[in-house]
Amino acid sequence: MPEKFYITTPIYYVNDVPHIGHAYTTVAADVMARYQRLLGRDVYFLTGTDEHGQKVEKTAAAKGVTCQEFADSVAPRFRELCGALGASNDGFIRTTEPRHKEAVQRMFTLLQEKGAIYKGEYEDWYCVPCESFWTELQLNGGKCPDCGRDVDKLKEESYFFKLSEYGDRLAEKIESGELVIMPESRKNEILSFVRSGLRDLSVSRTSFTWGIPVPGDERHVIYVWLDALTNYLSALGWPDETGDYAKYWPADTHVIGKDILRFHAVYWPAFLMAAGLPLPKRIFSHGWWTKDGEKMSKSRGNVVDPFAVVADLDELGLGADAFRYFLLREVPFGLDGDFSKDAMVTRINTDLANDLGNLHFRTINMIEKYLDGEIPALEGRELPTVLAGNAEGGSYDACWEFHGLYESFRARMDEMAFSEALQAVWRLISEANRLIDHTAPWALAKSDKPEDRRKLVEVLGVSAQVLKASSVLLHPFMPVKTQAIYGQLGHADSLDAFTLTNSNRYFMYDPGQRIVRGPAPFPRIETDKIRAKKAAAEAAASGKPAPVSKVSVGRDAPGAPEVKKASPSPQPSPARGEGAKASSAPAPDSDARIKIDDFMKVDLRVGRVLEAERVPKSDKLIKMRIDIGAEVRQIVGGIGKSFGPEELVGRTVVVVANLRPAKLMGIESQGMVLAAGEPDTLMLAGFDADVLPGTKVK
Ligand SMILES: [Zn+2]
Repeated sequence: MPEKFYITTPIYYVNDVPHIGHAYTTVAADVMARYQRLLGRDVYFLTGTDEHGQKVEKTAAAKGVTCQEFADSVAPRFRELCGALGASNDGFIRTTEPRHKEAVQRMFTLLQEKGAIYKGEYEDWYCVPCESFWTELQLNGGKCPDCGRDVDKLKEESYFFKLSEYGDRLAEKIESGELVIMPESRKNEILSFVRSGLRDLSVSRTSFTWGIPVPGDERHVIYVWLDALTNYLSALGWPDETGDYAKYWPADTHVIGKDILRFHAVYWPAFLMAAGLPLPKRIFSHGWWTKDGEKMSKSRGNVVDPFAVVADLDELGLGADAFRYFLLREVPFGLDGDFSKDAMVTRINTDLANDLGNLHFRTINMIEKYLDGEIPALEGRELPTVLAGNAEGGSYDACWEFHGLYESFRARMDEMAFSEALQAVWRLISEANRLIDHTAPWALAKSDKPEDRRKLVEVLGVSAQVLKASSVLLHPFMPVKTQAIYGQLGHADSLDAFTLTNSNRYFMYDPGQRIVRGPAPFPRIETDKIRAKKAAAEAAASGKPAPVSKVSVGRDAPGAPEVKKASPSPQPSPARGEGAKASSAPAPDSDARIKIDDFMKVDLRVGRVLEAERVPKSDKLIKMRIDIGAEVRQIVGGIGKSFGPEELVGRTVVVVANLRPAKLMGIESQGMVLAAGEPDTLMLAGFDADVLPGTKVK
């Protein structure tokens, strides 16, 4: 029997539309669920909707529909969100389902039977939007301490839960780690709240009717939080204590936002203790997202719509995977984060298109080109020479240490430190890219020496292993893209069914395994093109002529500004027609010598080739996108007889950055790459160590 793992999101309140906060919780829980499945566990992943309460009653009334009709109209949106995000939830519970109502009423009577609920009268300050009573002391300047709104004095007959009796036991369970609250700062917050003394909790309402009636006293509806929290049990079939309940309860992890920590870390365990049921093992409270540095709110109109983000990324060929990656990589889980499109584009282009995308592109292409598509099987060999420290620039032991990577990845995933876990995988990806840079397989492939051939096989074998390890370990984060990469490495099985045990064997290849070519998984996001397209669409909509040239990167283009033609003055330049080829001019005589000022006019920059492809119908021209620090340039070079695109991507080159643009076979070239030699034996100018793109060459 595999070990079980039960993970939940909170149920989402239907009086809200799905926003980035919901997406964040769902994605985090999904990544954890998928990771646990990867470890071979029997996982149950639950999400759903919270449909009762005064706010729903008011909204429904304002819309002229019944509460149930209103809930029925909103709940599907949250189900669709799961689909849009690629969530693998096993269950979806709605609090208006009969199975849930039954469970909540049973919970209420069970608490009564145990003597934990009594009837009394309640009078205190009440915040309607938060549906919370507050004591005089808890108010913040006379306002609700949670939302800052006005509060009313309210008196009603109420059932009370004896929360005050559970403070000491709860504090003890939290301190002993029997109930884990993460991150640590939140745990301390809860402990000090518990230690400050708990008051009995009103667990029924007579001020509205949209809820689950108290059994035998139907003027009262059960407090929304007692109702909502019970979903974690009702979804498992409780009060029937066989079946899924027996299999999965207690929950291994409740993932929640920090705003609802108290309900989960204080009230919920107290209810369970009183009912004599086991407590959840861990509650992880994550932070909030702001938008461009501002708090998100309906009134500001700056709420990030996850459906729109995913739709945009889908159109770019990136899909929900890129959004999932961004959410979990950008901000350490538990802290607050800021969402901006620029940050997301940068993250996607840097990590996915460049790092992982390059490793994929180079590995697949070079194995096809140099090894006839057969992935090297390195098992049984001595530690590859390239990894034993023979490569230029240091030792590559790190590449071989899948075991170490796996251990540190696991340790971080187990504590839900997603960003750090991703960084661990990225260190390996960067190592593999560096290994390729330094060993230059394209040069090894041209050599006849047996040791060069061996080295070539080892480098590409290791690259393929790193790519495989990455696709397996990143699968919980990017289920679609990793499956695509894995498939291109010649695997026909589904990563959803892949089970990791503590073995390096998983990243090895059997002899005879072949590359299956497919599209690049992470196309680069071309901000220029998107903005120009957007401006053109807006211009078309407004009847104005579409702007012709590119719009500058780094600022939003509000409305449809008139964009001036950037006028790259057409300049026929046959000498530069060779693009990357250095002209073989005769040695200058003394009369032709230039002053340093003349030389300094040439702006030479370090560039890194991000993408390269052959210009159709030309055996010589290659179109590249080169990062020169401040911007990315499109440069066409006449180097195609010496280099294939796969040998160029990731290379550091020298770029003449202040050349006037010129067109080669109709394609604009915005600069030149320095090289030396004859057309079919060119060598690119480079550096003997890593230099950052954009650095001036002088
Ligand atoms: Zn409030």
